[in-house]
Amino acid sequence: MLQFLKKKWWVALPFLLIFLGLTYWLIGKIQYLLNVVDVEDYAPVSTLKVAEHHPTQAKFPFIDVHNHQFTMPIQNLEKLVNEMDELNMKVMVNLSGFRGKYLEWSLDNVNEHYGNRFVLFMNIDFEQLDDVGWPNETLLMMEEAVKQGVKGLKVYKNLGLSETDNEGNRIAVDDPRLDPIWAKCGALGIPVLIHTGEPAAFWKPKDKFNERWLELKQYPSRYKDPEKTPSFEEVMSEQHNVFRKHPETKFINAHLGWFGNDLARLGKLFDELPNVYTEIGAVLAELGRQPVTAREWLIRYQDRVLMGKDTYKKTEYYTYFRVLETSDEYFDYYRKRHAHWKMYGLALPDSVLKKIYYKNAMEVIPGIDKTLFETVGQH
Ligand SMILES: [Zn+2]
Repeated sequence: MLQFLKKKWWVALPFLLIFLGLTYWLIGKIQYLLNVVDVEDYAPVSTLKVAEHHPTQAKFPFIDVHNHQFTMPIQNLEKLVNEMDELNMKVMVNLSGFRGKYLEWSLDNVNEHYGNRFVLFMNIDFEQLDDVGWPNETLLMMEEAVKQGVKGLKVYKNLGLSETDNEGNRIAVDDPRLDPIWAKCGALGIPVLIHTGEPAAFWKPKDKFNERWLELKQYPSRYKDPEKTPSFEEVMSEQHNVFRKHPETKFINAHLGWFGNDLARLGKLFDELPNVYTEIGAVLAELGRQPVTAREWLIRYQDRVLMGKDTYKKTEYYTYFRVLETSDEYFDYYRKRHAHWKMYGLALPDSVLKKIYYKNAMEVIPGIDKTLFETVGQH
């Protein structure tokens, strides 16, 4: 018998499969009987009946100051512009302009087709900061880029978290070797949009108490091991030091500066530093879960907040319009790993909406075509 099984083991295969199938079916049955649901599968359909609004276009024209288009030199912009028109997005800021030839080609493509609909920010390689010639070469490159039409500098989160100098040491956000760069932006009249750190929850234990548990499960690399990374507070204070040290430079602190869950703290920073602004890309869910506080806060700091989205996906803007403009209650956000909670509308006054949608961006970012916004107000 054993001999037979050794030779013809495959005969047993169908039985094994049937056995496994039965077990799987049985586990499902038992789970159902015991009321067990996977927390990731749980998607209760709300029975709440309240007024609903589903805006697919912003009430006022807007500027998205936080966007990434990675193929701009060769991109067919027509499709994108058509979608922007449908959303009422007049200007898109592409933060991934990179530098050098890539940047030039991107600018060429934009200027040839839709010169006033796109704004490009450049990016710098900070890891070169020990090389001979740095920062002067970088400063020259920045001057050139601004002459060509670049309207800002975007700094990625790598600075402060993972970028290292020639000795292999982490480059702090407030590393004095970078001071000439920040000062140059002020002198050139261009803002710095800076993303520093990550949500504070990424530094917390990956357990059932963690607000971003699902995100850390789906993207384990986003977890910040306190042994291997500087703390949340450390990178935040480094970033704030830069703001403090360069009052002549305007900074757009990306993603509500990761203080979306503590707006009072962000407000304090604004009170101290008039050169600091923020944008709401990828952190809308923070505002939507605290409608009372967020509404009051946005009215108070209406001159400091800009519209941003980050990842480009047309239908996701609808949730932005719904949170900012309506007074709808208890509705879904579009990304479960960012918010397992529901949204509430803020019903912001028109005057505040206009500032967030475009007026503040026009103050901070130079050279935006004002004629795109002239007919505003008759909506
Ligand atoms: Zn981004």
